[in-house]
Amino acid sequence: MMKQLQGKSGASVFQYALLPQAPLPAVTIADPGKATLLIDQTYEKKSQVDLTEGDAVQTGQKLAPFKDSEAYVISSVTGKVSAIYPYPGDFGKNFTAFDIEVAADDVAPAVEDLEPTMASLRTYLVDAPGKPALDLLGDPTRPIHTIVVSGVDTDLLVASNQYVVRTEIDAIAKGIEILKAASGVETIAIAVPRDLIAGFGHTGADELKAVSLDYPSGQPKLILYHAFGIEVPAGKTCADMGYAFFSAESVANIGKTYETGQVPVEKMVTLIDKQGQVKVVAARLGTPVAAILGAAGIQTGDRDRLILGGPMTGTALYDAKQVVRADTDAIMVQDAADVTLVSDYSCINCGECVRSCPTRIQVNMLVRFLEAGQYEDGAELYDLHSCVDCGLCSYVCVARIPIYQYIRLAKYELARVNAVAEAPDEQ
Ligand code: SF4
Ligand code: SF4
Repeated sequence: MMKQLQGKSGASVFQYALLPQAPLPAVTIADPGKATLLIDQTYEKKSQVDLTEGDAVQTGQKLAPFKDSEAYVISSVTGKVSAIYPYPGDFGKNFTAFDIEVAADDVAPAVEDLEPTMASLRTYLVDAPGKPALDLLGDPTRPIHTIVVSGVDTDLLVASNQYVVRTEIDAIAKGIEILKAASGVETIAIAVPRDLIAGFGHTGADELKAVSLDYPSGQPKLILYHAFGIEVPAGKTCADMGYAFFSAESVANIGKTYETGQVPVEKMVTLIDKQGQVKVVAARLGTPVAAILGAAGIQTGDRDRLILGGPMTGTALYDAKQVVRADTDAIMVQDAADVTLVSDYSCINCGECVRSCPTRIQVNMLVRFLEAGQYEDGAELYDLHSCVDCGLCSYVCVARIPIYQYIRLAKYELARVNAVAEAPDEQ
């Protein structure tokens, strides 16, 4: 099923970039001014929550303010609550936002009851920067035998995980030790860019895997195929095959938490400017995108485009007030003159999308079903579930059809319908 993406010469068309030999220190956004903390819970009225405007919070404090829910967030800053309001997410998801005006003095008490157990990890680190995949561990119906610490990034130009494996190898080694003790998983492997493979022998990982720089080799399913010789059948996940992928950043943050007792609150974000220059910034979770652009001296004009993520799979932002979250790996700024607008032209059957697809899906046929909202038929007839989310089909489409956005929506809708069908009957 999996074929390496190749150009006409047989070489891959796109390559991941390597950071310089000694990557520059990340630029830290010292004071975001305001942070917005998000809880995965719908907000309808004030009486739902125990927090109110003016309440003080501290960095690392666990906030579970809903009276009828255990949903919580770890505060990434010290300051005072200044507003509480509903916050829309992707695909109609609803969050509750808590704006915190940041105080001059940062107070971050150490956690005292940290143990190398899954309970401790889940209490303090479930939404840690890098978003550790803790929900994949401990499910007896889907046992995990191997954790893969991924030191590669999935999208082009993004270098957050590469930065962490280059600069925080001791923290990663500590994180591997804790994960092994807490999860009891038999094998922990670390995957790094092929050209960086020397020097990763002392992480405590049981296996070291090299990942090609050919795009999209950093996608977990392709790492499994090329580095482990495991093919993930259509419709299955890496976890279904017994492999849980953890970003290198999340594992480094687990290590740092157990070394220092401080809950991590800073996310490494790759900032890609209008010229395609890349720099890594460290920003508190909840920092507005606008604050990061301001600190980096990036001005944006009216029709410039902001993208959360990389050039292949990122999502356009409608507003620079959106914030850095645990899985925000990159922010990209595109000059208005470089923005390729999508169109409502029909597919002309040129076949570029099929030639580009690493899994050789018949994308030209699939897109016809997805445009019509016929997700189940598209999935069944044209192999939607073999898609590894690389975005190449959209990139090459001469008709500028937003194919990858259709694919994301289709996968989301099918997963939602399945979840409803599998939910226990409430009667
Ligand atoms: S995003 Fe497009 S090109 Fe990439 S695997 Fe999916 S269908 Fe193929
Ligand atoms: S690249 Fe676009 S126009 Fe060409 S076959 Fe694919 S969907 Fe159709």
